[in-house]
Amino acid sequence: MTFDDATARLWALPIPVLGPLPPPFGLDLSAEWQITAGKVTEESVNWDEIEILNARSEAGLFVSGEEIARHRTVTHLLCPACGEGRDLCFLGHWGSPPDLLCTCGHRWTPWSDSPQYGTWRMMHVITEAFHQRQSPRA
Ligand SMILES: [Zn+2]
Repeated sequence: MTFDDATARLWALPIPVLGPLPPPFGLDLSAEWQITAGKVTEESVNWDEIEILNARSEAGLFVSGEEIARHRTVTHLLCPACGEGRDLCFLGHWGSPPDLLCTCGHRWTPWSDSPQYGTWRMMHVITEAFHQRQSPRA
């Protein structure tokens, strides 16, 4: 990998966009959604380490993709009551943070310390479900 590739990968790190998303055309904004999303991933980034890598990169030092990957962790959300992580279901409205429902019926609010992030995840899940319902396979 060339230095330029590494720089591009550093700057391409996904930073959560917490601004409002435009709703898909034709979406009923008052609809209550219940969307089975399967496994729900959550990515955590060690920003201190990423900052160091950024500084090294800016100083013209080589930074490998492996180093970048080492400081990003993808985990699956699990039900806090039973530990189930499959077939989690999003409940809620466009523009509000969701509740999650596991297959046993436990209901909880994920990302409760960051309702903006929860709202953003909910909008993404609704957008995906909305487009799938409009496809002929739905
Ligand atoms: Zn559960």
